[in-house]
Amino acid sequence: MSLTVLMNAGPWLSVPPPGYGGIENVVATLVPELRRLGVRVVLASVESSTLPVDEKIAVFGDGQFPALQRPYNQVCGIAQAHLGGVVRALHARDDIDLVHDHVEAVGLATLAAMGPQGPPVLHTLHWDLAKHPDLYGNLDGGDRVRVNGVSAAQLARAPRALREHSVGHVHLSTPLAVDADRRPRPDKGDHLVILGRINPGKGQDVGARLARRVGVPLVLAGPVGPYHRPQDLAAAGDEARQNPDVRFFYDEVAPHVDGDLVRWVGTVAGRDRDDLLAGARAALFPLRWEEPGGTAVVESLALGTPVVATARGCLPELIEHGRTGLLTADEDELADLLLAASVLDGDECRREAATRFTPAVMARAYVGLYERVRQTATRP
Ligand code: UDP
Repeated sequence: MSLTVLMNAGPWLSVPPPGYGGIENVVATLVPELRRLGVRVVLASVESSTLPVDEKIAVFGDGQFPALQRPYNQVCGIAQAHLGGVVRALHARDDIDLVHDHVEAVGLATLAAMGPQGPPVLHTLHWDLAKHPDLYGNLDGGDRVRVNGVSAAQLARAPRALREHSVGHVHLSTPLAVDADRRPRPDKGDHLVILGRINPGKGQDVGARLARRVGVPLVLAGPVGPYHRPQDLAAAGDEARQNPDVRFFYDEVAPHVDGDLVRWVGTVAGRDRDDLLAGARAALFPLRWEEPGGTAVVESLALGTPVVATARGCLPELIEHGRTGLLTADEDELADLLLAASVLDGDECRREAATRFTPAVMARAYVGLYERVRQTATRP
C-alpha cells in the first residue's frame, strides 16, 4: 500500500511512554501494525521517542508532561509550538496523504485552519466530551477534517459538531491480545483488582466499600494524582491535597483501605501489572463516569480475567454480559456480581480479546477509515 500518514502524538510524552500514557500507548500499539500493512509513518512527537518509524518530526527534545501543571496559556503555548512544527512540515512537503491527529482540540483546530491546501485529517477523540461542549469550538475545515471515537457510546455523547464530522469508532486494542488464546493459564487467586487512575470517575471508593461488605479481597492499582507509590504520597504531606484526586483518595477511598482485605499498591507496570491482572478472579470497574475507551478493560480480557462493571460508557460494547463479564446499572447488585464472577470462563475472555482487540484488528480498521477520509475529502 502506498500511503504516507503523519501520526501526530503531541509533545507531552515520548512514544512509547515511559509509564502512564494513554494516547502514546495507542500510537505505540498502532504504528508497528500500520507499517506491517505497508503504510509509511511520519511521527510527530518529541525527539526522545524511540518507536521505530519511517521519519520523525519533533520540536521538543523530551516530553513536556510536567509543564501540564503550569497555567493554561503556557500549556497552550507548548501545544502551539509543537503544532507549528507540524504545520511547517506539512507546508514544506507534498507526500503526506493524511494526518492522523491525537492532540486534543488544538490539534484538530490548527490542522483545520490550514484550509483547503492542507492534507485530509482524521482526529481520534480520546476523552468523554459530553462535559466539554465548547472544547472544539467551531469545527471548520469542511470535508477535509473528520473525527473518530474509541467507542460508539463516546461518540453518542460528543458535541453535535463532532458527531457531524464523525466517520465512526475504532475500539482500543492491546498487544496482550496477540496470541491471548495460546498464553499459559496462570493460577487464579481469590482477589479482585481495580486497575486505573484513582479518580472519582473510576469509582475506587465504591469498589472498596462493596468488597468489604461482601468480604472479598480487593487490590487497588494505579496512581493517586502524580504519586505512583504509597510512600511517595505519604512523604508529600498536606500540600499534596491540592490535587483533587489526592483529596478523593484521602476522603473517600483511604477510610476503606485496611491493608488487609483492601490494599492500595500504587502504580503497577510491565510484568507485575500483567501478573496482578491475570491472577485476579475478576477485574472490577465500578464506574461513575462514561468510560470512553477502556484500555484496562480489554487488557483484562486478554489476560483471561472476566470483568465486573457498571454498565456505563463503552462497557456494554466491550463486555458480553454472562460470557466475558457481568454488568449492572445498580450498585447493590454489583456487590452480588463480585461473588458471582468466578463462574465465568477466563478462556472465553482470552478468545474474545484475540478476535476483537488485537493491534492488527485496530490497524485494519484505521486503514479503512483513512481510505474513507481521503475519498470524501474535497481537494481544490
Ligand atoms: N495502568 C498501568 N498501571 C496502573 C494503572 C493503570 O499500567 O497501575 C495502565 C492500564 O493498564 C491501561 C492505562 O493505564 O493501559 C489506563 O487506560 P484506561 O483507558 O483504562 O484509563 P484512562 O486512564 O485512560 O482513563
